[in-house]
Amino acid sequence: MFQPTVEAVSEAATILFNLPEYRVIAVTRDPAGGRQVFLDTPVHEAGCPSCGVVTARVHQRTVQRIRDVPFDGLVTVWWVKKRWRCVEALCGRATFTEHTDQVPPYARLTTRLKERIVTAYALASPTQMSRFRLSGRPVMRA
Ligand SMILES: [Zn+2]
Repeated sequence: MFQPTVEAVSEAATILFNLPEYRVIAVTRDPAGGRQVFLDTPVHEAGCPSCGVVTARVHQRTVQRIRDVPFDGLVTVWWVKKRWRCVEALCGRATFTEHTDQVPPYARLTTRLKERIVTAYALASPTQMSRFRLSGRPVMRA
């Protein structure tokens, strides 16, 4: 008989959520009845953008809200993001944060959401636009 482990449940949630480069580490209910999805990246080292030296030292983790494609019901997505410490003594950059193709530096929307917004905007469908629950500002930035 199948006995689910913590790893198997996390893997199942990651497959369902289907955001490339990320894994689901937790899903909770919020007081309003919505769901909160917590993600991280299964990455254990990164190259410093200034000097290129690879580091495995995580300086800290921060939690950043990211907007993603709509799901059934209210879903808030949080990225538990790593800030790496550069280990090169001669490098002027002490720390740097991770980024992915889905959430590039300074982005607040996933790439897949941005692509859907641009498509909906190009089709000028108010019904599709309202599904994203966004004001015009992120649309114009996209
Ligand atoms: Zn460096």
